[in-house]
Amino acid sequence: MAKKYVYSFGGGKADGNESMKNLLGGKGANLAEMAGHKNLRLPVPPGFTITTEVCIYYYKNRRTFPLGLKEEAAKALGKIEKLMGRNFGDAHNPLLVSVRSGARRSMPGMMETVLNVGLTEKTIPGLVKQSGGNTRFVYDAYRRLIMMYSDVVMEKAAGIEPKDEQGIRKQLEKIMSQVKKEKGCASDTDLNAEDLKLLCGTFKAKIKEVLKKDFPDDPHEQLWGGIGAVFSSWNGKRAVSYRRIENIPDEWGTAVNVQTMVFGNMGESSATGVAFTRNPGNGENKFYGEYLINAQGEDVVAGIRTPAPINAYSTSEHNKNLITLEKAMPKIYQELFDIQKRLERHYRDMQDIEFTIEKDRLFMLQCRVGKRNGPAAVRMCMEMLQERLIKKEEAVMRVTCAQLDELLHPIIDPKAELTQKPVARGLPAGPGGATGQIVFSAKDAVEWAKQGKQVILVREETNPEDVEGMRAAQAILTARGGMTSHAALVARGWGKCCIVGCAGIQVEYEKKEIHIDGKVLREGEWITLNGTKGNVYIGKFNMIDASEENKLLSEFLKLAASIKRLGVRTNADTPQDAQKARQFGAEGIGLFRTEHMFYGKGADEPLFRLRKMIISKTESERRKALDELFPYVKKDIKSTLEAMDGLPVVIRLLDPPLHEFVPRDPAKLEQLAKDLNISMEELANRAEGLHESNPMMGHRGVRLGVTYPEVSEMQMRAIFEAAAELIKEGKKPYPEIMIPVVCDVKELDDQLLLAKKVYAEALAKYNLNKIKYLFGTMIEIPRASLVAGKLATVAQFFSFGTNDMTQMGFGFSRDDIGGFLPDYIKKGILPEDPFQSIDQEGIGELIEIGIERGRKTRKDLEVGICGEHGGEPRSVEFCHRVGMDYVSCSPFRVPIATLAAAQAVLKEK
Ligand code: ADP
Ligand code: MG
Ligand code: MG
Repeated sequence: MAKKYVYSFGGGKADGNESMKNLLGGKGANLAEMAGHKNLRLPVPPGFTITTEVCIYYYKNRRTFPLGLKEEAAKALGKIEKLMGRNFGDAHNPLLVSVRSGARRSMPGMMETVLNVGLTEKTIPGLVKQSGGNTRFVYDAYRRLIMMYSDVVMEKAAGIEPKDEQGIRKQLEKIMSQVKKEKGCASDTDLNAEDLKLLCGTFKAKIKEVLKKDFPDDPHEQLWGGIGAVFSSWNGKRAVSYRRIENIPDEWGTAVNVQTMVFGNMGESSATGVAFTRNPGNGENKFYGEYLINAQGEDVVAGIRTPAPINAYSTSEHNKNLITLEKAMPKIYQELFDIQKRLERHYRDMQDIEFTIEKDRLFMLQCRVGKRNGPAAVRMCMEMLQERLIKKEEAVMRVTCAQLDELLHPIIDPKAELTQKPVARGLPAGPGGATGQIVFSAKDAVEWAKQGKQVILVREETNPEDVEGMRAAQAILTARGGMTSHAALVARGWGKCCIVGCAGIQVEYEKKEIHIDGKVLREGEWITLNGTKGNVYIGKFNMIDASEENKLLSEFLKLAASIKRLGVRTNADTPQDAQKARQFGAEGIGLFRTEHMFYGKGADEPLFRLRKMIISKTESERRKALDELFPYVKKDIKSTLEAMDGLPVVIRLLDPPLHEFVPRDPAKLEQLAKDLNISMEELANRAEGLHESNPMMGHRGVRLGVTYPEVSEMQMRAIFEAAAELIKEGKKPYPEIMIPVVCDVKELDDQLLLAKKVYAEALAKYNLNKIKYLFGTMIEIPRASLVAGKLATVAQFFSFGTNDMTQMGFGFSRDDIGGFLPDYIKKGILPEDPFQSIDQEGIGELIEIGIERGRKTRKDLEVGICGEHGGEPRSVEFCHRVGMDYVSCSPFRVPIATLAAAQAVLKEK
């Protein structure tokens, strides 16, 4: 049998179903499911789906269709005609259809849709008759068809790229506003039949003038024009940039859905709307949505009129004067309410639905798993777990690492917020706080962000063409549009702070300013948004971390932790970091860097002593300096071991090249010379002697300990004595001594000798039998991985330092990649920055070799990772797969690593 290109749905049956998203696109698959599944059989207007394979064919064959498609489509159209008792192109009782896009994954508003296809001079009278003589409705439908078709098919699909604001649609909209103004109409719905009829004539003339082509008056030409245009829109500018951001492959293609039109614009007993089975903004289990009476499809999303709430729960500051669907059409509301419940139970997840009411009859036009932000995702999955709608494994898979990340993001410091009054309020479309400089166009947002500025994109209304700017901005603020408006949807998908429908601001694009609360703000001025509440403030506010108070979050993390096998530790250099990470569930410290105590607050004194040590020439000079340094090091290590009581703490011995610590400040130099009792000249000489031409590969790490054993000794003593003191205090310290930058086992032999000596001395001093500790090494030089079998004869643990390993494995200096890496990525030489996500092919193999050879020598070798990669989800999955014992990452990434580790387990099944 020839390949099937067309799948019908309607009349309680469907060729396809929900599992066929790849072939039918998400929209088509779900339309089939809603129409045909025996538990649903919902009122879906009948139609058919042309598969994504046709789209792929279309692009491979110079934008032509496969043989037999037209015949198959004609048959499917015939089925609809039979079900509806109407015929396409019929003068007396015409069938109208919509032509809708629909990719595997939803790309809201990024591709095109044409409504009312099949309306021509010949079929107009028939539609008037069908609608019971509603001429106004018919010309409203006609002018919409003309607007959409000329824009989507005649301009965009034809590859015409008009200048900003010069597109045919914009020009027609201008004409329409003009007519509304002349007639004194506030809303589109105030235009009467005669106005609209004239408008259609004017539209057609304008189209001819601008595009040099007639608007087609043949229903089949309209239909196939529409189908081709939807396929073309797969490669439209918006769709392409959205795919880049969302990592959707270009090869997928879109399906096309041709579906019987139902009319929400047939008068006061008709309406159209969008709803969610739960609140997508915060996850609350309440039916939530917006609708418009006497309107067609895209009106709700486009923000042309302010949509009304479907029920009291969906009411906001903004729409509180409008009548709810529940009040206006109680019976229909009830029907819709029941359907949404059934849909949620059927799909076992929050659904985003589109519906239309035609003369008191409800139709379902779309359903899909609803986009949600991070806080909502966590709440929904935890509540659905309680409701036994889903199992714990599903709950853990329902929240992506990126969504979790949102919960760990900043909010406005509540104290600062209390002191200020908001200057405007809008709808809270994306939670969290953001502060930034105002920009007015997506292009500026991208450019300013590139310059490292924080911007907030302020727009009159949300527009799908703004995606890249929305992405680049910290937050988005719009004057119009509702909670289901398209930018709100996109922002929500990204978990971006966003306020829409902020009626209190007036945007003046030309002057690049906004009027707000009687004040004028210009481009570049700072504003702050509270996207959780919808409040807008003038000025730059402090942001803080919000994760601590969230109870559901900690329950969710416990759930994830109960599934994961990989340990999650943290890289912490201060007791405060350690504490925080422990709250998040860190099971130890994977990297404590001794050198940190020489940076930042309170570092002056130890740093001065370290400098003395570095500048020392003789061993006795050095020992003196080390003795002075010792108490600082011991104190720091002790408080960290104490914060992590009972859990392992990997302490890395001093790693950076010494000359990094030589002061530059003349006053500091003088002080140093004085204390060491040497001349400034002598000091300069000694400092000069430390200079290296390639310090990252110079005298650092274990090499320092080999040259100056007393430096290692001092650190080891600090570790053992800190632990001994804690044992005496009844605590359970567990240090792991880690030797960095090792390339050969003899380096480890050398250092182990010192460790053993110092250990014995500490036991004697504190009169103890034993201090629990491990001695191990960092694996960060490629050679170390290759000789891992030998290293493991001495090392009890390995910790992969993947930053240096990536640097040395690729031969890329981490500090200099800025010069070439962007080109490597742009040209596709590398898929991404290997310092962000582990290069599994190359560096990954080095790691696997290291683990395998190490464990061959020592079966119980403990293996972890301490590079930045330890908190990056795909790298975490890799670490799980290669059998590491734990990952270690910065404290605020611990929850993400935990979730990634749990999902890695679940993905194995
Ligand atoms: P998108 O994927 O951008 O949401 P849709 O294909 O869903 O595009 O269509 C855009 C709008 O048109 C939606 O509001 C939808 O409900 C409406 N629409 C699409 N097809 C029909 C139809 N057959 N009858 C009535 N309204 C329709
Ligand atoms: Mg839709
Ligand atoms: Mg290193």
